[in-house]
Parts: sequence; C-alpha cells; structure tokens
Amino acid sequence: MDFKKYIRDVEDFPKKGIVFKDITPLLQNNLAIKAVSQELLESIGDQEVNKVVGMESRGFFFAPWLATRLNAGFVPVRKAGKLPFNKISESYALEYGEDTLEMHADGILKGEKVVIHDDVLATGGTASAVCRLVEKLGGEIVQCNFLIELDFLKGREQLEEYNVRSLLHY
Ligand code: 5GP
Repeated sequence: MDFKKYIRDVEDFPKKGIVFKDITPLLQNNLAIKAVSQELLESIGDQEVNKVVGMESRGFFFAPWLATRLNAGFVPVRKAGKLPFNKISESYALEYGEDTLEMHADGILKGEKVVIHDDVLATGGTASAVCRLVEKLGGEIVQCNFLIELDFLKGREQLEEYNVRSLLHY
C-alpha cells in the first residue's frame, strides 16, 4: 500500500517555514491504519520485547497497539509536569532553548528489552532523550521504531548506536 498518499504536508505549522507531516489522514482510513500498524509490527520482527515506550503525543497512537501484539507493556513518555508518580527526566536542546521529557521511575525494570516508538524522527533530539531515560533505568533498547523519518534532518546520526527502523522516508 502507498502510505505516502495518506500523509498530508501542512505548510507553516507549527511555525512559519516548517512543512509538517500530518498523519491524521492515514489514521482516519480504516485500511491504511490497519496496514500501517501491521507493517510497524513486522518491522520489529520476532525479537523479545518487554516494553514499548511511546512519546507524547503522536507516539501514543501506535505504541500501545504494538505492545499488546508483542505481549509487552506500554510505557508513556510525557512532557515535564504531566506524570503523577515518581519520575526521571531528561532534557534535550531545541532550536531555541530546551525541553524536558519524563518517564515514571518504575516504567522499566533493569534488563528489560525495550522498543521506543514515535510517529516521526526529525532531528533525533526527542528519541535520543527517550533512549537515555530507558537506559537510566537499566533497560536495553532493541529498536527505535518510527512511522516516518525525515532523512534530511539526519536524526539517525544521533541514534547511531541503536537499531533504527522507519517505514517511510522523506
Ligand atoms: P525531533 O526531536 O526528532 O526533532 O522531533 C521529533 C518529534 O517532533 C516527534 O515527537 C514528532 O512527533 C514531532 N515532529 C517533528 N516534526 C514533525 C512532523 O513533520 N510531523 C509530525 N507529525 N510530527 C513531527
């Protein structure tokens, strides 16, 4: 299936000069969401996985589904201040300033095998911060899994030590 026809380019979102890849047309289409979920699952293969970590907020669309299919748990990573319980934090640089991501301290147990999932890999700042969170808790990252990779932003270079898989490349 040609998934790219369900990805909409939105110019000047969230700010001027950015062309945003909007995945909602794909989510809205019954056949497309089914097929793309299945391909994401197949890209993980038959590795042992204990937890799937999804990033707020578009990582939440597929990560819990992948977790149930892999017989794994789902762990949310959220922006600072949203999680209620004991947590760990990691900051990462933005174009201007920085942002902080958090995960519950009991989200990953030492030695667990972890897939991290997000909709888009852009500069790689978000994903590398999430990898650091997982590793702080002693998790082992078996794959960084994305629906879309914006190759020209070279996010993959920040994830050199990991197995990175993306279904669609731009
Ligand atoms: P990075 O940290 O790799 O620069 O940015 C990745 C994060 O920003 C992801 O959580 C992703 O959801 C969001 N993101 C960046 N660019 C886009 C885009 O064009 N489309 C969508 N849907 N998300 C984006």
